Amino acid sequence: MITKNMIQSEIEHFIQKYPLPDDFSHIWEAPLTGYADASHPYWKELKNLVHREHDQPMEILPGATVVLAYFIPFSKNIGQSNRFCGLASPEWARAYEITNAMFPKLNQHIIHFITEHGYQAAVSKASGFFDRENITGRWSFRHIAFLAGLGTFGLNRMLITNKGCCGRLNAIVTTLPFAADEPSVSENCLYKSSGSCMACVKNCPSGALTSSGFDRKLCFTQCLKNASVYTQFGSSYTEGNGSASGSEVCGKCLTPLPCTFQNPCQKQN
Ligand code: SF4
Ligand code: SF4
Repeated sequence: MITKNMIQSEIEHFIQKYPLPDDFSHIWEAPLTGYADASHPYWKELKNLVHREHDQPMEILPGATVVLAYFIPFSKNIGQSNRFCGLASPEWARAYEITNAMFPKLNQHIIHFITEHGYQAAVSKASGFFDRENITGRWSFRHIAFLAGLGTFGLNRMLITNKGCCGRLNAIVTTLPFAADEPSVSENCLYKSSGSCMACVKNCPSGALTSSGFDRKLCFTQCLKNASVYTQFGSSYTEGNGSASGSEVCGKCLTPLPCTFQNPCQKQN
């Protein structure tokens, strides 16, 4: 019988064996996984919270039961490389693009694994879509991972898991017979739990992030600045769309901070 541990191991083995360039061979740590209830009312809220056309699990896979959300943390050397102010580090841009290019292969592997065990699984076609006008997607991995109990949102708008927020998220809709996980009720962000920290705000080079809000346009402008420099690693969101660009990255609001590699509130407890 298929179990949550089997899927966790399958993801872990896949990324361990994934062929990485010799000069860039350690970029990921062991993943975290969680399962979001495919029928939870929160899915409808995502149409207001994220995008009016946010996908619903049943649209992707009729009969969906739980949505597997997984987090692949970047290794410490990748996070640390992005510590200087200004542009993102080349290591950050490269790890971002390699990880995004790896996800479709990993997802196909896990879908195959699940179907071999008699269940169905599928990814949202919207997962690679980025609405450049509204600067948002139609399938928010962060919100899905929140619903799957993987963490809570930081002041930096990232999902802070028990392994921090420095990494990449993904999700697969399934008909697996697993109990759904519950969203966390306690905050993982120091600012949200005690009003302290704000290191992410201080690190933001564009002024997009403040204690009271987030300016998407300012943030995206900073990402495009990086994209104009980092054209050699690929471009996750523009390839195939006829738009020549580079790596739309920044990440200064997640590296290296109290919540980069750990849950800072858990550490305090
Ligand atoms: S840097 Fe501090 S305030 Fe910002 S998200 Fe992390 S814990 Fe919260
Ligand atoms: S990604 Fe960069 S520009 Fe955007 S909020 Fe974070 S630090 Fe600021």
